[in-house]
Amino acid sequence: MKNRLPNRSQTMKKFLTIRWIMLGMALFAIVSLTVMNVYSLYALHESTISSASDRQKTQLADFTYTTRNRFRAPVEGIWRLNMEQLHDEIARNAPLNPALGEVLARAMEDSLFDKVYFAGADFQDCGQSGAIKIFDTGTRQFVNESLPPQSACDGISLTRTRMNVLINDYRWNTKVVFDTHRTMNVALINPRGASIVGYLSFSINRDYLVNEYLAGKLMDVFGTRDESGMTVWLHDWLLNEVLATNDPDTPYDRRGVEYIQRFPDLLDNWNIKVVFDENPAVLASAGNLQRNLIVMGAVLVLLLGSLTIMFIIAQRERSLMERQAGFLANVTHELKTPLAVMQAAGENLADGRVTRPERLKVYGEHIYTESMRLRRMIEKLLDVAKSDAGQQRIHPERVNLGELVASYLQEHQTLIAQAGFEPVIDLQSPLPDVMADRENFQTILGNLVENAMKYSGEEKYLAVRLRSNRSAVILEVEDHGHGIPTAARKHIFDKFYRAEDTLTARTKGHGLGLSIVKNLVELNGGTITVESTYRKGSVFSVTFPIYQASAASEPRTVNSNAKIEYAS
Ligand code: ADP
Repeated sequence: MKNRLPNRSQTMKKFLTIRWIMLGMALFAIVSLTVMNVYSLYALHESTISSASDRQKTQLADFTYTTRNRFRAPVEGIWRLNMEQLHDEIARNAPLNPALGEVLARAMEDSLFDKVYFAGADFQDCGQSGAIKIFDTGTRQFVNESLPPQSACDGISLTRTRMNVLINDYRWNTKVVFDTHRTMNVALINPRGASIVGYLSFSINRDYLVNEYLAGKLMDVFGTRDESGMTVWLHDWLLNEVLATNDPDTPYDRRGVEYIQRFPDLLDNWNIKVVFDENPAVLASAGNLQRNLIVMGAVLVLLLGSLTIMFIIAQRERSLMERQAGFLANVTHELKTPLAVMQAAGENLADGRVTRPERLKVYGEHIYTESMRLRRMIEKLLDVAKSDAGQQRIHPERVNLGELVASYLQEHQTLIAQAGFEPVIDLQSPLPDVMADRENFQTILGNLVENAMKYSGEEKYLAVRLRSNRSAVILEVEDHGHGIPTAARKHIFDKFYRAEDTLTARTKGHGLGLSIVKNLVELNGGTITVESTYRKGSVFSVTFPIYQASAASEPRTVNSNAKIEYAS
């Protein structure tokens, strides 16, 4: 069974598909990596923000609990008292238990409290005479208070009401109840009989509490706004009054508050209001995020850019390969044709069948023209091969282009006339000499003239001009032929390139002439440009640097890789 080999275009198609797939995969990989990175960078940034504010919130909560402990510390001994014994003593109207006296005396030494009042379990309201007693620090005894302050009455009433609800299920021997910032009240409870022993009401020194304790503690814990990264206000919401702050320069604005921390079970109308600043850790993380995004963006652009360039280069290579392949098929055919003609003519001559002199001449001419054609083809191929290998050698010498053009036109007069052209020749005289390789110049001129004729339609117009400016002699070859489509103009000097339009398709060629011309022009230190209007015609202009006396006047051999130096 025969194995069918895939043809070239199938293989190319396969490669192209693979290239697209690879490109797609690379793009997908780049995009997904980028998305993943951006996502994790954002997540990291968010977690930095939340961990920074979490830390600050914990600090705030801790502050309020410490405040609560500040109230409890001076009266700590109360919950160690024997409530049953206390109950009996009060019932017996005995002098105040010394342990309790000790605790209260100590509490009275603390600036936090002003006074302490006592009401028995039978307390109903302040109107009752002798309902409330006041602690006398000197005797460590409670004495009757005929005019108890309203705050003490309120505090004890509040505690009593609260205890009426709680008492049956309550297991502890004390219950602390704050009446806003005015009093701290302690219900003394005999847990065994679930009964109230009495009520203590400590009046709070507001001035000390606010101005010394809370204001000082606020600064201790949070420091200034710069240190903590937040502005903290101790605020009385009922009176809408700021009691203390860590940043007196920032006015309190309710709308800007980002977080509120309440005190647990105390100082009911007071709370701590906070505005978070850009924390240094958050700022650093934001900076980091920004830098990372910029670097990633740049890398992404670079990657996508290089991918695109790689892809474009690959496409160009592909089209060059295609053009090369087309050229090979074409050139093989073109080489075979003159060979076939020469072979046939040679056979006839060798057979001795042709004897008439005029027929002999015709055969001779055939062989001559075909061999010339073959030679031109081979020379072109060699030129390309040499220029590819960088091995072209040139022999620049002082020449007058006017003479070279004139002699070229003279030599090719018949050929040009046969093609139907009557060249318009405009050669400036006198013309400065240039440094150029004679043979190269012939090739350049020959190619341009051949192209002008080849790509002319009905209008057979050919003009060859020579003029000079300060630094160069300019050769112009003009035709009124097909012209070059705009898109094709930048490619015509590329190897194997042929414009893809119907007019060019009608002519024979391999896309080598102009690439050889450009290479030779550059080797001779010149430049080549084209001005063309599609369907109107083209003008090719080639410059050659003017010969300067200081430049080497002896003919030289220059390797094409070496730089040729001319005085400007
Ligand atoms: P070839 O003529 O063998 O195709 P060239 O390298 O000489 O190769 O030219 C490259 C392409 O440039 C041509 O295929 C043609 O499309 C375009 N071209 C060159 N000279 C002319 C011209 N005088 N007028 C219009 N098109 C031209």
